[in-house]
Amino acid sequence: MSKPIVAVVGRPNVGKSTLVNRLSVNRDAIVHESRGVTRDRSYHDCDWNGRDFVLIDTGGIESAKSKDVFAPRIREQALAACDEADAIIFVVDGTVGVTDEDEEVARVVRRSKKPVFLCVNKLDDPSKELNSWDYYSLGVGEPRGISAGHGFGTGDLLDDVVAALPEEGEPEPEREDGVLNVAIIGRPNVGKSSLTNRLAKRNRSIVSDVAGTTRDAVDIEIAWKGSRIRLVDTAGMRKKTQVHEDVEYYSLVRGLQAMDKADVCLLVVDASVGVTEQDQKLAGMAIDRGCAIVVVLNKWDLIDTEEKREAVRASLDQRMTFARWAPSVNVSALTGRATDKVLAAAVKASENHARQVKTSELNRLVTSIREGGHTVTYKNRRLKIHYATQTGTKPPALTFWCNAPDLVDDNYERFLENRIRDTFDFEGTPLRLRFRRKD
Ligand code: GDP
Ligand code: GDP
Repeated sequence: MSKPIVAVVGRPNVGKSTLVNRLSVNRDAIVHESRGVTRDRSYHDCDWNGRDFVLIDTGGIESAKSKDVFAPRIREQALAACDEADAIIFVVDGTVGVTDEDEEVARVVRRSKKPVFLCVNKLDDPSKELNSWDYYSLGVGEPRGISAGHGFGTGDLLDDVVAALPEEGEPEPEREDGVLNVAIIGRPNVGKSSLTNRLAKRNRSIVSDVAGTTRDAVDIEIAWKGSRIRLVDTAGMRKKTQVHEDVEYYSLVRGLQAMDKADVCLLVVDASVGVTEQDQKLAGMAIDRGCAIVVVLNKWDLIDTEEKREAVRASLDQRMTFARWAPSVNVSALTGRATDKVLAAAVKASENHARQVKTSELNRLVTSIREGGHTVTYKNRRLKIHYATQTGTKPPALTFWCNAPDLVDDNYERFLENRIRDTFDFEGTPLRLRFRRKD
């Protein structure tokens, strides 16, 4: 299941990025430095009261009459962000009052019919009362004063936003139809299009333009050994973007959009180059979105010596340490070598992604870990896990009830995850481990 999405919109300079930085868990979102693109969308992970969601920073909806050449695209991006969002945070500048541009943003926001949180920002002095009337005129509900810079009002904002998000575990209608959604992601030129064509040609395929979504999103559906597999959002692979300096960036953005729709990501890697930092980043993003992953080592026809094979293996070992559970397949889209294996691996990963383990079996494991004595202690306190249950699938989420969740560190979590993976078949899928207090 993908995380709910919250879009932060508003004209430039009202403090969107400042707000997003304050609200997000980490600072290493995808932002691009080159001109124009900084004002595109970036995605940031958030966690509030145990709810995970993704914040999109849209970089500003500018009025159509603006002279900025990028303006139409920015507006489109923001529109798209509102489109894909479950809730919208609309930011205006409280030191300036309502401007024409704010009104224009309000029109976009109103049209979306999503829950909207209107934030009047830069109210750095909380004792000063907000003059609300001006902002009510935007027609998007009650304004709230905040200071992104100082953090005033942002906790209450998050409380309300989280309450408006769809319940965790609510099925997404798009995925209910028994079709396995697969995203083919990877850097430019690794062979994504070639692989897609191979898979589509060999198997019966239906190319469908999905109405109502981004114009150039194309899904290809194939029938394979009784499974229906949909390769989502493949258009970006064929149509290379004109601005070549941004190709890497767009492959990221495009990949993200596909990931949001996918259960399984095929991370295509150029085996003749090995796993790169960018590949690593893509894998990380897929994991954040809860997707299963199969690493596709493409161009295997070029790997014709033991030395080269060793180099690929080494790069995989080094760069994918955080996803050792992801299987890899060696293929050549060019010759057609083993491309069928890709689909087999995807189907298997999706089964594990949807796996539900029995509570009794899980607790047998918990008991054996407890009896094994491996735990964490700090000062006089000692972590004790009472019991566990699986609280979600796609990806599998396991909740551990324990006396002191704060004692759980990365090491212990890794240990626990390894034990779980030794016991249950979760190959290809990330796991979410949660720790809750119970005395
Ligand atoms: P964006 O273009 O909407 O993303 O706006 P930024 O986040 O880049 O902020 C624009 C400017 O407003 C920056 O100089 C920020 O430091 C400033 N700013 C943002 N939030 C606040 C706030 O709460 N109080 C004050 N005084 N300044 C803020
Ligand atoms: P994309 O940008 O990831 O969609 O990559 P393409 O499918 O356009 O492929 C980029 C280049 O790599 C093209 O010249 C392909 O012919 C070549 N290519 C793709 N797959 C293979 C392969 O398995 N082996 C070899 N040798 N070349 C490949």
